[in-house]
Amino acid sequence: MEAETPFDCCPEQRFTCSRCGRCCNTLEVMVTAAEKAALGRFHFKPALTLDNAFRPRAKQLWELTKTADGRCFFMNDQGLCRIHSEGGEKLKPLACRLYPLVVHHWNDGHISADCRYYCPAVGQGEPLEKQEKNCRAMAELLKYTAAPAGVTYSRENPAGLEQVRRVNAAFQLIMTKAELPLSLRLYMAARILAFHAQRDMHSAVAEAGPEFAADALEFIAKAEDNLREEYNHAPHHDLNLRVKFRLASSGFYRDDAPHPNLMYRIKRARTMYRWTTGRGSLHELNASCPDTSNFDFFSTRAVHRFSEEALQELEIFIRAKLDAMHHCGPAALNFCWEDGVRHLLLAAAAAAAGAGSIAGKEGRPHVESTLMRRVLCYVDTTFRLSPFFRTRQYRISAVGLCRPERYAGLLKAFFNE
Ligand code: SF4
Ligand code: SF4
Repeated sequence: MEAETPFDCCPEQRFTCSRCGRCCNTLEVMVTAAEKAALGRFHFKPALTLDNAFRPRAKQLWELTKTADGRCFFMNDQGLCRIHSEGGEKLKPLACRLYPLVVHHWNDGHISADCRYYCPAVGQGEPLEKQEKNCRAMAELLKYTAAPAGVTYSRENPAGLEQVRRVNAAFQLIMTKAELPLSLRLYMAARILAFHAQRDMHSAVAEAGPEFAADALEFIAKAEDNLREEYNHAPHHDLNLRVKFRLASSGFYRDDAPHPNLMYRIKRARTMYRWTTGRGSLHELNASCPDTSNFDFFSTRAVHRFSEEALQELEIFIRAKLDAMHHCGPAALNFCWEDGVRHLLLAAAAAAAGAGSIAGKEGRPHVESTLMRRVLCYVDTTFRLSPFFRTRQYRISAVGLCRPERYAGLLKAFFNE
């Protein structure tokens, strides 16, 4: 019997749909010929004409259409799915049953999944592993629309997916070291990343063998005291670091919807100037974010204490991306692996900073898990989509900000662990 290909997901990530309907108007829903035929055979009451319900997408694959007001064709006036209400869960297209999962199939046969934090049910319910069968079915479907995913190590080092997985495994192990503070684990990740980015380490990565992750962990264990010292003695943030981080991290919060209006662009330039100089507010970057004026990321009035559950939320977010390798490749803006890890390190810092600013403004004594989840919803939505992250300016900035001594300055500003 043929062995099943690996299914990669974070064992801590959970989800069970609460049927809030939030995703239905934003999701592009693909349906197969069999699903389309099953819907055609079903008798909706009152009757539903399906002539305009499907748009061809690829061979043997269709997309559900939206109504003029942007709702899914099958959503009723009460915001409920007619397929689910009348035909039950099993009649729903697989894509709907799988949301909020992001599924990828890789060119070494792996299938991976993580959750979109846009869904309010992420973090509750069943572990993602329970969705393995559905994810495998989705990966089969995806073969109709996209080539299997691949990724190289870095721009300078073209080591392929096999080596990338071995290096990635080392970072997965570092992030599970629960006996260390999360901020120290993040610093260690930045430190190992910088170590491997050195030109004379290219061949070590290109020739990474099966023992790579265990060796990296052994190195961390031996060097733990030194790394802790390095972290504690790293310089605090200076003006230059603050400006660069505010600019880079704005991408995780700002609304980058295309807007052709010149006045809007002038206003946006003014907003960005205020933001990078520490006088802006998250609400100015994105109307759906709360007002944080006077509570800049680096303000002494922002809150840098986190509940244990809030730190766990952030840790699971980071681990989910690493476990599924959704911080790089087609799952995240086609970043090479190294750029993807930097992106993830900055996302973690931006989430901590944003949660701290909101907690300060709202008069909370510490950041709780519900607030962390709210913030991860903003950060995760932009994480794999924002065009800002494709810019050369962001990439160069990420390299500088993730230099270990600079990154330590950021972590020390946002985490009071
Ligand atoms: S998948 Fe999430 S967003 Fe969509 S209906 Fe279920 S709970 Fe709501
Ligand atoms: S078919 Fe139902 S579950 Fe799927 S997007 Fe439409 S309304 Fe939502």
